[in-house]
Amino acid sequence: MSGARSERCDIAVVGAGPAGATAACHLARAGLDVALIDRAAFPRDKVCGDLLGADALEELAQLGVDPAEAWPGRTGTARRWREEGQDGTVKEGEEDFGAGRRTVYFVRRADFDDTLRRLAVSAGARWLSPCRVTGLRHDPLGRRCTLDAVAEPGRATRIEASAVICATGAGKGVAGTRFDATDDRIYVAGRAHYENVALPPDTYDFYHLGHGPAHYGWAFPLPGARANVGIIMPLRTWRLQGLRGAQLVERLPAQRRLPRETLRAAVRVTPFRAVLLRTGLQPGELCRDGMILVGDAAGMADPRNGEGIGPAMFSGHAAADALREAWQGRSPLRHELLGYEAAVRRKYGEAFEITRRRFAGDPPRVG
Ligand SMILES: Cc1cc2nc3c(=O)[nH]c(=O)nc-3n(C[C@H](O)[C@H](O)[C@H](O)COP(=O)(O)OP(=O)(O)OC[C@H]3O[C@@H](n4cnc5c(N)ncnc54)[C@H](O)[C@@H]3O)c2cc1C
Repeated sequence: MSGARSERCDIAVVGAGPAGATAACHLARAGLDVALIDRAAFPRDKVCGDLLGADALEELAQLGVDPAEAWPGRTGTARRWREEGQDGTVKEGEEDFGAGRRTVYFVRRADFDDTLRRLAVSAGARWLSPCRVTGLRHDPLGRRCTLDAVAEPGRATRIEASAVICATGAGKGVAGTRFDATDDRIYVAGRAHYENVALPPDTYDFYHLGHGPAHYGWAFPLPGARANVGIIMPLRTWRLQGLRGAQLVERLPAQRRLPRETLRAAVRVTPFRAVLLRTGLQPGELCRDGMILVGDAAGMADPRNGEGIGPAMFSGHAAADALREAWQGRSPLRHELLGYEAAVRRKYGEAFEITRRRFAGDPPRVG
């Protein structure tokens, strides 16, 4: 790659979503030389429900971030949930995440992710963006990783690092880090933002649409009578439905009681966008010599409800801990990183696997 720009760092973190930014922040705070790389210029949007669950709130606290202070006037909050079952019954309850946490926060991802990215940069991480990583090689003799990347506008860049954290989300990722999922681990989820949404104060809604986990619609409050309204379902059900996602969301009020109350006068103000979501933890390795997979790149979203921000942050934090412990100034080998796999499987492995097995053989149902 003659004429290529070249960078060196201890640890290259590819992807600056919640997984990568959390990892970069902890590593930079520990004094390591970190490059945080993203193909997108930030702030950037991410298709998401914008809900911060218990694990996300715990990881934010460990980073020293209080959502009420970090995004004043820009968060939705709720202490109460309502959920309408498939048979039309409605349950209501109060949130309790333990540790005195009773409030769910809803923060647009453009805001949320940019705050975490800034935190990593203020801790000392170098920010390389927009910069798309196209290839990753590990040299076992030299104990180094080499990343090939393209920075805008079309400028080749080579990044040498002792270790790489791959936090590239649920998409194709980087060559050499393939996600090995079967269809039953893949969901489709999409959302749009709406105005004139009539959620009761301090409340968020779920509308169960089918049998099995993570087959539901939602309306999550944002400031100013706005809401994030979306839908999630297994990929195989989505294929059977053969309908466009925006139509699925917009016909919710005609079908059921809660969405009728909540969405009657709602007006869509952003396009509906749907993407694949990989859940239930990647089978097989989560780390190799010199490399760790975190967040959606490792299929870390919860198959019970599609929540992935908390698991992404947890895994980024655990990856940073494992690298810090293994750190000797050269590329750690897989066996030195196994503490990471153990931490993630201890936290999520059993619950995710139980859910997945329970529903893997179920026939898909439509509507
Ligand atoms: C519709 C929908 C609703 C959801 N709702 C919720 C919710 O309410 N709460 C919740 O907890 N979770 C939710 N999730 C899941 C959540 O969005 C993800 O689990 C979470 O974003 C994973 O974070 P991540 O850091 O692993 O990946 P991402 O947030 O996807 O970040 C990956 C980053 O990597 C960058 N990247 C990718 N490839 C490259 C490359 N080759 N070079 C450089 N950079 C690259 C991307 O630009 C991106 O910035 C939802 C998902 C969907 C689809």
